[in-house]
Amino acid sequence: MPLDKSSPNLDALLLATLLEIELSDRDRRVAKKRYHYIPEHLQRPSSPLRTYMDDAVVYAQGSRAIGATIVHGADEDRFDLDAVLEFPRPMGWSISRVLDELHAAFEGFPDVQHIERCTRCVQLQFAFMHLDVTPMDPATEPRIERVGAIYHSPDNGNDELFDVNPYGFATWFNGSVSPPTLAFQKQLKDMREQIVQRDRFISTTFRADAEIEDLPVETHPLRDAPQVISLKLMKRFLNLRYAKRKEKRPISVYLSKVAAQVPLNLNGLCSQLEDLAAALAQRMVNAIETGVWPAERNPALLTENFNDRWPTSIQEMVMFRDDLEHLVYELQRARRSEFVEIRNIFRGLFGETVTESAVRSYLSQASNPTGQSRFQPGKGFVAAPALISPARTGAANAPKAVPHSFHPGRLKK
Ligand SMILES: [Mg+2]
Repeated sequence: MPLDKSSPNLDALLLATLLEIELSDRDRRVAKKRYHYIPEHLQRPSSPLRTYMDDAVVYAQGSRAIGATIVHGADEDRFDLDAVLEFPRPMGWSISRVLDELHAAFEGFPDVQHIERCTRCVQLQFAFMHLDVTPMDPATEPRIERVGAIYHSPDNGNDELFDVNPYGFATWFNGSVSPPTLAFQKQLKDMREQIVQRDRFISTTFRADAEIEDLPVETHPLRDAPQVISLKLMKRFLNLRYAKRKEKRPISVYLSKVAAQVPLNLNGLCSQLEDLAAALAQRMVNAIETGVWPAERNPALLTENFNDRWPTSIQEMVMFRDDLEHLVYELQRARRSEFVEIRNIFRGLFGETVTESAVRSYLSQASNPTGQSRFQPGKGFVAAPALISPARTGAANAPKAVPHSFHPGRLKK
């Protein structure tokens, strides 16, 4: 463990692939800075929302809240960040007005290239990333922590409110997955130190901004958990599959919930990814055969259906099932293959650039005589055992999503 005894090359290469698709330190600094600009910008004297921000709270949701953010891979838009902005709906404001006013209030946000008013959020587009800010009307007290309603206002169709609890989901997720052992974390740390991450699309404005370099780099404590790793590899695989399609892809929160429910597989990372693919494929097969469509609920708010916008047709489920079967087939083929063929398979699954970089870092790790792992001709990649902890009970040590409350003129951390 974590390197599969039955096919050790595969797990080592999956790990190296993972390191290539994660955000660089600089990505994370830029993300942090932009995230922290949200309250600052909305509270500026000329902000049309200024008077409503006294009790506002902003916090990460989605992949950033669960340690599963990756570089997209098929787009110059490297990654996206999702944030919730909680503030009570001003008296008399319609659903669409909340989104319109938030859209207007973001005008002039530092470095933004375009601001899009979406159906449920306002999207701030930058040179190589975007930030989705979803306004939320907090439920009346007493409420389940951070439950509220988000606004849905499409071009065609009725405006609606949906009760959601993204904070509760992130807390559930973080408490559900099995954390990586210290030994496994050390192995990944050693591998990371050997990989020089490239920042391919750096904004020139931020390049000149010394403050970015000074920000501490934060990492999510569960980013190296095997269930989270399988989720990140799955997302990368799907990014490439859907890159040239018109169809909508399955939404990330649905994939995330299933990834956390798939038990830790002690046979290693490849097995973990195969289990996730099989669990999702089984759901598609069941839905197609029975006509009962997926309706995965938020464990922290059972009225919230993660499948309310996907799938929209049987064809979407068939396409997704076929993708998953392709992934499993290719991984099983890789298990029986020589190194050169594994490399070809990975190019198809995760992209050429990332695979070539992963192969280089894998080979350099394999030839490191002082490392815990080494490549043995004919035997593959041999690693220290017991690198993944057994499943734990309870969520005592689970990191909680940390909200930022903001008040005029200051940002409370
Ligand atoms: Mg997003």
